[in-house]
Amino acid sequence: MARKIDVPALAKGVLDGSRATLARAITLVESNRPDHRQAAQQLLMELLPHAGGARRVGISGVPGVGKSTFIETLGTRLTGAGHRVAVLAVDPSSTRSKGSILGDKTRMAKLATDENAFVRPSPSAGTLGGVARATRETIVLMEAAGYDVVLVETVGVGQSEVTVAAMVDTFLLLTIARTGDSLQGIKKGILELADVVAVNKADGPHEKDAKAAARELAGALRLMTPTSESWRPPVLACSAQADTGMAEVWEQVEKHRSTLEASGELAGRRADQQVDWMWAMVRDQLMDRLQNDAGVKKALPGLERDVRTGDLTPTLAAQTILDALG
Ligand code: GDP
Repeated sequence: MARKIDVPALAKGVLDGSRATLARAITLVESNRPDHRQAAQQLLMELLPHAGGARRVGISGVPGVGKSTFIETLGTRLTGAGHRVAVLAVDPSSTRSKGSILGDKTRMAKLATDENAFVRPSPSAGTLGGVARATRETIVLMEAAGYDVVLVETVGVGQSEVTVAAMVDTFLLLTIARTGDSLQGIKKGILELADVVAVNKADGPHEKDAKAAARELAGALRLMTPTSESWRPPVLACSAQADTGMAEVWEQVEKHRSTLEASGELAGRRADQQVDWMWAMVRDQLMDRLQNDAGVKKALPGLERDVRTGDLTPTLAAQTILDALG
């Protein structure tokens, strides 16, 4: 028998800033069990009025660029300046390869023990849609718990950065200089999402290359359509390891947010994100219902077979599936 979930107690614990309760609440929103989903929705309804106050920053980059080092250094700086910092990760790949981006327990060791920081150690596994839902809801919980900076980390592969860009105020792309490789191997689509770009590892023998790469990227960005009319994405060089240039990167993140706030775009962006969230939920729940519907389940094997053999057009089969949905 499942134990009944005491939603008011969970809500109170989160609002009181209890780390253990926050961790439990995140586990609840990550769950796909129908009774958990229902409790999670109640919890979110109670906490939503207390959310929305944080700077939400997405941090993306391919494995090895230094994301965890960057978040550790930046997060420690921010808590030192009086902020309360929450970190979470979007890593849908973790279901396939056991080694998720947050699999290594030693990542962000300093920040993980900082009393003004909350690092969610392991991302939820599952489909990107499921992870996206859990991430959005986790942001609400972290804000309700009083964290005023939420850093959402994602690996720069696949669709996950598009998903993260759609739930933050500022999207920071982390990269490194790779000589001989035009645009440092960054996919154009990802560069287009960036509000701020930082070329990391600008230290020691790499410093010159990093600065050259930053100039090259700045040139490339000038040719692209910016994500906002009032903001041109700056490119900076920094070293997460040596803690140089980090204040300047954060300054640009703050400046991006205040520029968007002043122009009214921040409110518009967040409103758009709420509507996106609604549609993502509709898509998720429709897919769930489709996959669990008895009529659909019965019809599917035959339909798939006929589409494969060409006896049925995909359009007609799709219509039949939707008609079968009770
Ligand atoms: P992630 O996979 O993007 O999270 O990258 P990590 O933070 O794990 O860093 C990958 C490697 O790069 C590690 O060996 C780090 O010590 C190193 N690294 C991270 N930041 C810097 C930096 O600013 N300078 C140098 N030289 N090395 C760095």
